Amino acid sequence: MSLGKKLRVTKQRQVLLDELRKVCTHPTADELYQMARKRLPRISLGTVYRNLELMAENGMIQKLEVGGTQKRFDGNVAPHSHVRCLKCGRVDDLALSLDLDMEELARQQTGYAIVRHSVEFCGFCPACR
Ligand SMILES: [Zn+2]
Ligand SMILES: [Zn+2]
Repeated sequence: MSLGKKLRVTKQRQVLLDELRKVCTHPTADELYQMARKRLPRISLGTVYRNLELMAENGMIQKLEVGGTQKRFDGNVAPHSHVRCLKCGRVDDLALSLDLDMEELARQQTGYAIVRHSVEFCGFCPACR
């Protein structure tokens, strides 16, 4: 969540944003590259990576801090929880209100000014269990 200057929305970034907001699957950069290529055949994987990182730093999208081998991205920047499948790596949203008392407890225990927190649930998705 950067407070830096606003990122210019280029054609490439707009396409990535559109594709990301269309789905709720929390795609990886590779998956977003495949999605964006249908509209921007000349875009490179490196460009996709770079733009996703920049947009995440700028708060336009969310980079998920979940386990697993590849970073995943989320077009929904509102705070929400996630559940991750330990077998196939699928990540779903979880409609669970975040407990603000936990942030207060964290502040008291550590002296940090808490900005946000995330909760990750792990398990096996309906297809894998
Ligand atoms: Zn699974
Ligand atoms: Zn999400």
